Amino acid sequence: MIPATTTGLGKLAAGPGHLGLREQTVRSPDAGEVTLHVIAAGICGTDLHIADDEFPCNPPVTMGHEVTGEVAAVGDGVQPDWIGARVAVETYFYTCGRCVHCRNGRPNLCNERKSIGSYVDGGFAEWLTLPARNLHRVPDHVGRHAGALAEPLACVTQILSDPPLINSGDRVLVVGPGTMGILTAQTARAAGADVTLVGLARDGARLDVADGLGITTKVIDDGNVAGDFDAVCECSGAEGGAQLALASVRKGGRYIQVGIFGRPITIDLDQVLYKELAYTSGNASTPASWERAMQLLESGAIKLDPLVTEVVPLVEWERALAATRAGEGVKLVLDPRTG
Ligand SMILES: [Zn+2]
Ligand SMILES: [Zn+2]
Repeated sequence: MIPATTTGLGKLAAGPGHLGLREQTVRSPDAGEVTLHVIAAGICGTDLHIADDEFPCNPPVTMGHEVTGEVAAVGDGVQPDWIGARVAVETYFYTCGRCVHCRNGRPNLCNERKSIGSYVDGGFAEWLTLPARNLHRVPDHVGRHAGALAEPLACVTQILSDPPLINSGDRVLVVGPGTMGILTAQTARAAGADVTLVGLARDGARLDVADGLGITTKVIDDGNVAGDFDAVCECSGAEGGAQLALASVRKGGRYIQVGIFGRPITIDLDQVLYKELAYTSGNASTPASWERAMQLLESGAIKLDPLVTEVVPLVEWERALAATRAGEGVKLVLDPRTG
């Protein structure tokens, strides 16, 4: 039975802080919608930016946009065989469908986009109702909690694969061994690149996870140059990481921004001119990037399970957010069914 109310971790008011648990209504699925029984939702850098008032949102709203769960109920017009399916979900609750971006398959750029976890209640709650078009079946070999990482993977494939930025045989530097860095390293490798992932000395545990996936890793001190790479993927979202990446890309190479800084930073953009770089990025995910992500999971080219370093009951959210902020582990996920 789906209850009438559930506990969610929300951004309760505007401004820095103001996070807390709240009771919310569980909405029955309207036509074209489903209700998920959430298994897990990943804690992301974006959630910290929401906590710090550095990312737009519409409080009070339940956070959580990296969601996996089982379909518990379907609305009118939705195939009943979705019931019981284990899924990961696209994050767009609403896009206009009419603007040039929507019509070009890039709802991520729609000005009217409303996403779960920032503008509409998200997955830091046991029950979540959202459009059925957002669903993707998780391959059986992906672990239950790890399904939450399909969403960040779809963001990586959006940046790297549409249009394709990594060629077979490229020497690729990935800066920052967090979730985005390890997913980027695996995605670049799947494209045939020779990948090196670098982190700071304090990132040892994260680099070990990457090592375990067969990725070449290196500890690098701030201010050093890592080499002369065809493409660099900046995944740390830190000024030092961006400076390192810019210094380590060869002339005529590609600088690809994956991490979010959350504030203006200082880098020497003249290097883009002197080195004749292509400087590019991507924002969130698209239906096409989800297809690409699910293919990579299905084929086994990308592993998510080793990235889930802790499953934390929802009620212990404060500890989990603090651990994420401190860079402990790789990906912590909240499990709203426990505690
Ligand atoms: Zn995220
Ligand atoms: Zn639109």
